[in-house]
Amino acid sequence: MNYKELFIGTDLYINTSDQKKTERIYLDSAASNLALRSSQEISQEYLNYYANAHTKVHAAAKFTTELIVWAENTIKNFLGADDTYSVVFLGNGVTFPLNRLALGLSKLRPEKDTVMISSMEHHSNDLPHRVNHEKVMYISGFDEKGDYIGFDLAEIEQQLESSNGKVNYVAITGASNVSGEISPYHEIAKLAHQYDAYIIVDGAQLVAHASVSLVNKEDPLSSVDFFVFSGHKIYTPGSPGVLIGKKEILAQMEPIFYGGGMVSSVTLKDFTVAEHLSDKEHAGTLNIPGIISLGCTINFMQHVEMEKVYAKEQHLINYLYAELSQIPEVILYPNANITNKVGVICLNLQNIPHELTSLILNDYFGIAVRNECFCSHPFVKDCLVEELWDIEDESAVNLYRGMVRVSLGLYTTEKDLEFFVQSIKKIIGNIDFYRMQYELIDKTN
Ligand code: PMP
Repeated sequence: MNYKELFIGTDLYINTSDQKKTERIYLDSAASNLALRSSQEISQEYLNYYANAHTKVHAAAKFTTELIVWAENTIKNFLGADDTYSVVFLGNGVTFPLNRLALGLSKLRPEKDTVMISSMEHHSNDLPHRVNHEKVMYISGFDEKGDYIGFDLAEIEQQLESSNGKVNYVAITGASNVSGEISPYHEIAKLAHQYDAYIIVDGAQLVAHASVSLVNKEDPLSSVDFFVFSGHKIYTPGSPGVLIGKKEILAQMEPIFYGGGMVSSVTLKDFTVAEHLSDKEHAGTLNIPGIISLGCTINFMQHVEMEKVYAKEQHLINYLYAELSQIPEVILYPNANITNKVGVICLNLQNIPHELTSLILNDYFGIAVRNECFCSHPFVKDCLVEELWDIEDESAVNLYRGMVRVSLGLYTTEKDLEFFVQSIKKIIGNIDFYRMQYELIDKTN
């Protein structure tokens, strides 16, 4: 099946620096993946019936409300959640629901002043929890020798044990945006619950790449309390942030956004917060077209089947890893071959700054990748050898502190990756030529 034509922008041709017209190869899906054409078209079509959901009487408003409820149910079904969960749409990415949870849960259980996070998190799943709690316990991901060990359950249990019941919740990524590793979040949920801590799973990098089931019927302790993701990480730009969480906990949390829609009555003296969870959490007008296109995209993903999506990506990422590890000048991060991962690989070319590699890939080969630290400074620092991080010359620091990230989407093909590997080999083989080009550009600017 050729998925490329189902997405917008996969047929883009661009001019490279050596005046060739080339097909753009998009390998930056972990930042935002490309849009699914059909869901954009449907949400465009919906605009003929556009209205605000809060209006109760006229037909278009009722239709809009029904579509939002449909999107919520589609999301719940996709993520294996039952009626004990509620879906909340917040802002335009996962950062919003993470902040909502951090603030809400810290106020809900002030006696539990500690939060447990891994040091492999995106800043959005670290800073909101950090600033709302007295104490942070970090799970390191590396052993004493600096070797990568990933999400170590023994360490998590040890830290929970030593916290004397003070951990409010464990916030963990579903899949890392640097290593691609899928965390054992169900096992972590079980441990957290044994110590009366909740669990938040940051599903930004997981939701489009592997199947998720929040509820575990056989072992309810390992069910997930909160799962968050962004529409733009699952082929839906104009992306709502999504929080799907346990109703009984959400119901106890004070709102953080106040305004129209989230109250049942207001006088100049006081107000009553709406009882219905969805009303209470949704102050103001929702991102209605974004929610509808997200519902359509998720519907599409269910038809493709997430097991097949995962298997396809496994084949591609294993192929890429095998090819890259045969090139002596390629340094792969972290220093371990991770078996359970989504389609993300981070690398550097020996003695070539990450930015130069990425520029050449873009300018000469039409390949889009991301470079630098991917909003995960502590993790990237731990992956890079100390000498590299501790360089004193400030101008060199920025050149070498960081990596190149290759990340895949449903539209990625083996041909794309073959081309990427060939391009990397050409860069290594002709690096003096490329360096000269960029020096020339610098001088002419
Ligand atoms: N968590 C992870 C794992 C991510 O990859 C990202 C985006 N790179 C975020 C959080 C933040 O997502 P957003 O920009 O949609 O808020």
